[in-house]
Amino acid sequence: MTDIQKLALFGGKKAVTQESGNLFTWPIITQEDEEAALDVLRRGAMSGTDVTMAFEEDYSKWLDVKYALGFNTGTASLQGAMFGCGVGVGDEIICPSMTYWATCLQAFSLGATVVFADINPFTLCLDPNDIEHRITDRTKAIVVVHFLGYPADMDPILEIARKHNLKVIEDVSHAHGGVYKGRKLGTIGNVGAMSLMTGKALAIGEGGILVTDDRDIYERAVALGHYERYGSQTENEQLRPYQGLPLGGYKYRMHQVSSAVGRVQLRHYDERNVEIGRAMNYFWDLLEGVPGLIAHRTDKESGSLNGGWYAPHAHYVPEELEGLSVTRFCEAVRAEGLTSCMPGCYTPLHLHPLFTQADVYGHGKPTRIANTERDVRQYKGDLPVSEGLSARLCEVPWFKHYRPEVIEEYANAYRKVALNYKELLQDDRGNSSEHGNWKLFTQKQNS
Ligand SMILES: *Cc1c(COP(=O)(O)O)cnc(C)c1O
Repeated sequence: MTDIQKLALFGGKKAVTQESGNLFTWPIITQEDEEAALDVLRRGAMSGTDVTMAFEEDYSKWLDVKYALGFNTGTASLQGAMFGCGVGVGDEIICPSMTYWATCLQAFSLGATVVFADINPFTLCLDPNDIEHRITDRTKAIVVVHFLGYPADMDPILEIARKHNLKVIEDVSHAHGGVYKGRKLGTIGNVGAMSLMTGKALAIGEGGILVTDDRDIYERAVALGHYERYGSQTENEQLRPYQGLPLGGYKYRMHQVSSAVGRVQLRHYDERNVEIGRAMNYFWDLLEGVPGLIAHRTDKESGSLNGGWYAPHAHYVPEELEGLSVTRFCEAVRAEGLTSCMPGCYTPLHLHPLFTQADVYGHGKPTRIANTERDVRQYKGDLPVSEGLSARLCEVPWFKHYRPEVIEEYANAYRKVALNYKELLQDDRGNSSEHGNWKLFTQKQNS
């Protein structure tokens, strides 16, 4: 009879009563991780590459790709992927604006620029129908993000890329272990790159990794920031003369405490990812049909699977709740005993002044248009789905364990608020202007 209970916001009993314990604790660190890290420290092997190379080997086997290259951050791995694809001065990459900045901002340091495309309102990933008209003779690559764990619709994107001879880079930072129509994310485009930092689903410390079957992309990524591996084994004739020094002037080697922990985390990842999926799907099954909320998850029949469920969110449909703001909705959910249920999401990148005004390198004009003849800047109103998303998303718990009786309480919190929405209409002051930001989601459930 939860449905008719009084909202906790108005003095009713909280829906969530049980302690969360380690339900949200991530990453799961055991003695195995500790020993692996200690071994690196005791051997003084922090700056070596032996463990990192073993991790790369594990990783390439895991994804069934020829090459994996570890980086000290996901940001660096994505820059490596761009450089690997030949992105350089005056080139354009097409990517979503609704993402973390490290999907694209590195293009600036390569002398390239960014053209944002809109997202599909359900998948929240690049809208294949909004790409083609943005392609010019300067377009080099499409960067796809599997956003909030959900696999982007790769088939039509690959078709566009083939037609226009573009490379496809997959940013898998939100979706490790995810699957698109039976294919593993990161292995579908020309190159995949992803963050492995502690907030992500596959969490090893600070780190990133690039995966590809393309020898040339791999060699270029090595040449950019891995001088110690840029040597006589280089097959690319254009790269060979410069071996020994990093072309980019970057040093991107992974810290070996990260790669050591990464080897252990990867060994357990599939099993843990399955448990996360089971817990999240149970939560969503319980909320099936509740007005105002739609699961951001793949269809069972599609052969696709959310990966890792990083920062999971619900589609919030205010029209089904007489226009109740997501801010007010989340406030009522939090009152039900949740430490975190934040409204909104990132602010779209194209609205940040770094993409419209900043002259970072002293070109005498904004960096975004420093090396291009045409003005590619985008403003409010240009990407309506991305811009409106903040009012239509609400955070849901990122369960790490399948514990039905606790998950039921969390689902009840959302259900109870949705079914009692009328009581919230009166004091609804709408969404604040600060709602959505450029930072990472704060997973407060952890603390
Ligand atoms: C976290 C993240 C990155 C960058 O990774 P770091 O390891 O933090 O450098 C890139 N893209 C997306 C979508 C991310 O969420």
